[in-house]
Amino acid sequence: MDLLIKNGRVVDPERKIDRITDVVIRDGKIRSIGTANDVELPVFDATGLVVAPGFFDIHVHLREPGTEEAETIRTGGNAAVAGGFTAVAAMPNTKPPNDNPSITSYIVSEARRSSPARVFPIGAITKEQKGETLAEIGEMVQAGITAISDDGKPVMDGQLFRRALEYAQMFDIPVIEHCEDLHLSKGGVMHEGVYSTRLGLKGIPGAAEEAMLSRDLILAEMTGGRYHVAHLSTRGSVQMVREAKARGLQISAEVTPHHFTLTDAAVADYDTNAKMNPPLRSSDDLAALIEGIEDGTIDAIASDHAPHHMNLKMLEFDSAPFGITGLETSVGLAITQLKLSMKRLIEMLSINPQRIMRVKPWGLFEDSTADLTILNPKRKWTFDVKHSRSLSRNSPFHGWEMTGKAVATIVGGKIVYEDR
Ligand SMILES: [Zn+2]
Repeated sequence: MDLLIKNGRVVDPERKIDRITDVVIRDGKIRSIGTANDVELPVFDATGLVVAPGFFDIHVHLREPGTEEAETIRTGGNAAVAGGFTAVAAMPNTKPPNDNPSITSYIVSEARRSSPARVFPIGAITKEQKGETLAEIGEMVQAGITAISDDGKPVMDGQLFRRALEYAQMFDIPVIEHCEDLHLSKGGVMHEGVYSTRLGLKGIPGAAEEAMLSRDLILAEMTGGRYHVAHLSTRGSVQMVREAKARGLQISAEVTPHHFTLTDAAVADYDTNAKMNPPLRSSDDLAALIEGIEDGTIDAIASDHAPHHMNLKMLEFDSAPFGITGLETSVGLAITQLKLSMKRLIEMLSINPQRIMRVKPWGLFEDSTADLTILNPKRKWTFDVKHSRSLSRNSPFHGWEMTGKAVATIVGGKIVYEDR
């Protein structure tokens, strides 16, 4: 828990730091930032590397309890730190779902026991995620949830969603919506467009996401609630979030690496690893996501890491489940595809996720818990899914060459992952 990080480019946009210097860690906490000579500590030479506040992926499915053949809290935590994430937020659609404090407590204690990454559980909005009655939100907050969401499903009942936005304000936690009008998306397996027509697959129109988002924005404005949009995927959604922020709404939005990297063209050979929800969209939608990232409309990058057992992804396209793994490819794709400044990249992967989830902040400041991500932005590497720490293999990025990688992940002052 003691470490001297020497000669790294220390970047923390929140504390307005960007300089080459040393970081002293004692007892799992940052003790000083600045030239450190004559310090008797184990040394991590960070010459040529970037030292950043620990990255936080706020949209992850860990599958435990209930589907441990696809992922556990331990294996998901291993994949997280291998991808440079010191913390993840775990969506509640486990089996049973995290809709009560005993499941929340189980996740918290299992994460402490077995995960190298910190795990912040997200509670369900509704009981069993059925969209009928509110879950035990207050009790789950006591047990440790940091947000509520019925992710995987939207809350179709507007009245119930209004109540959730109002109730969540009492605890100052965000309400995260998976925006999808289930009537508009019914039976769809990919983006509705030229490719769905050509492939003869039923489409999910962009309007399915946008219709729900527009309802939600009205309710967020009416209640003043803290609203967060999960995995935004269309030009219309980006525009609506942009306008809502301009009106002063306290909302936030995330994008996944697959939505800013791939389009519906990836479905052309019926690859089930190109099947996700929301679906991969058109090249025009992708361009709008990039614009939204660049102008600050989109706050955070989150993977929507959704492991599935190989047997399920080997089903035909119509029957295979939605979702791909993402924890180990997020950072590489973000650096390779987006060409952002280091400041903006770290904002989207660490600072803004912390702010959205209202967690006790960490970063490059004295007395912060020493949760750090060390990047080599120039490192060229190839993702090999066979070497993934995740229990699942459903990634469309197998064999992809990327530039930029997390080469060390430090949690509480301990190096939990290293790839020099
Ligand atoms: Zn979702």
